[in-house]
Amino acid sequence: MGVLPAMSLGLYSESTIGHSVKGEPILCYSVGVGMDAVLVIGGTHGDEIEGVWLVEKFLADAKAKDWDLTEQTIYIISRHNPDGIAARTRHNANGVDLNRNFAEGWEPTPSAQRYHPGPNALSEPETCALVNFIAIRPEIKRVVTIHTPFDFIDYDGDEAKRLAELMSAKNGMPVKRIEYATPGSLGHFCRARNLPLVTVELPKGGTPDSLWAKHRDALWAFVKGS
Ligand SMILES: [Zn+2]
Repeated sequence: MGVLPAMSLGLYSESTIGHSVKGEPILCYSVGVGMDAVLVIGGTHGDEIEGVWLVEKFLADAKAKDWDLTEQTIYIISRHNPDGIAARTRHNANGVDLNRNFAEGWEPTPSAQRYHPGPNALSEPETCALVNFIAIRPEIKRVVTIHTPFDFIDYDGDEAKRLAELMSAKNGMPVKRIEYATPGSLGHFCRARNLPLVTVELPKGGTPDSLWAKHRDALWAFVKGS
């Protein structure tokens, strides 16, 4: 009798949570069936490909480990801004910074063009897709989003600070708050809901494999919450 290979239980699904300005689907993968739900986001800014790579590596690993995910459900959106990723632009196809387009703290006048918040809060379909997705899933207990180009872990709220420090112990990145205002950001949206948000700001560069080697344990610590 040989040893059975590790097998996927198929606790995995894929859904379209909305569409981009150009009609591309925004996909969300769900792995596991546990009560402790977390959300992992990459690719909100299309010119920050490192976050897309890292979240896609995480997705592949989570799918391979679904047998071990009886406690958790992991929602994974690796390409929140498909048009921006295709064009390698920070903004979506309307020239809007999605991380300034949430309703909470939204301000009409950007401090610079790169932070263009859109004509009004929630004007962009990519922002609405994420807001609607979270709004009907109160089981989501914490959120991590991956950006570049800094080299630190930011957080919103006390529980998020604890999670950021947990990640820091695994990947060696410093924990600190971003030093400029981010009106209409996902951070404001999550704070308004008491939803812990950790923002990992990766330095630019690396490869999918090198990013995964450095941040794998930190991401899993976040997902497990300990
Ligand atoms: Zn970013």
